[in-house]
Amino acid sequence: MALQLTNRRKVVSNKEQSFSERLYLPGILKGMLITGSHIFKKSVTIRYPEQTRPVAPVYRGQHVLKRDENGAERCTACGMCAVACPAEAITMENAERKKGEEHLYREEKYASKYEINMLRCIFCGLCEEACPKEAIFLTDRIVDAEYERDDFVYGKDKLVEKIEKRIDVSKRQTIEVSEFKKVPGTKHNTLYDGKAIGKGKH
Ligand code: SF4
Ligand code: SF4
Repeated sequence: MALQLTNRRKVVSNKEQSFSERLYLPGILKGMLITGSHIFKKSVTIRYPEQTRPVAPVYRGQHVLKRDENGAERCTACGMCAVACPAEAITMENAERKKGEEHLYREEKYASKYEINMLRCIFCGLCEEACPKEAIFLTDRIVDAEYERDDFVYGKDKLVEKIEKRIDVSKRQTIEVSEFKKVPGTKHNTLYDGKAIGKGKH
């Protein structure tokens, strides 16, 4: 007996085509009528990228590594974001801040290399939630299309915000959100195994 994997098998009909079916004209006219009936309907598509659809204020798009109010990089290369990332999209190397570099790096340790592979990232936002230094945020920017896979690995040159072009993340830092993140034991402050991280350190 022949093995049957599904019950979706259909018996093909070999019945002869009628005269009108052989002419194809009724079928073509029917298709054109259906197409024509859509001409005056409101279009459901938009002319992207000239037009964009509105997104939520806390839309999770391309990341930004924030600077503090003095322009120093906030990230201290603690690795919490990389640990929290379910897609293993974040890698970094740390370095010690040298004397005289206080204006560049906020903490004594900083990320000399910080990369996010945008092809691996699923834009879940867990890196943002795990960061104890308010250093990484997702933004409403959309990751650019590229031709080469390597170009999707974003380094500090693309991630750290420009001093002269700061990125507003205040919608992600409302008082309610900040207070919520300070509460020990909330989802924002825990890893999946329940270990608390960065309780109230902002
Ligand atoms: S948004 Fe999610 S998947 Fe992307 S880098 Fe952050 S934690 Fe990883
Ligand atoms: S969790 Fe924040 S401070 Fe730590 S490495 Fe990631 S971005 Fe930097």
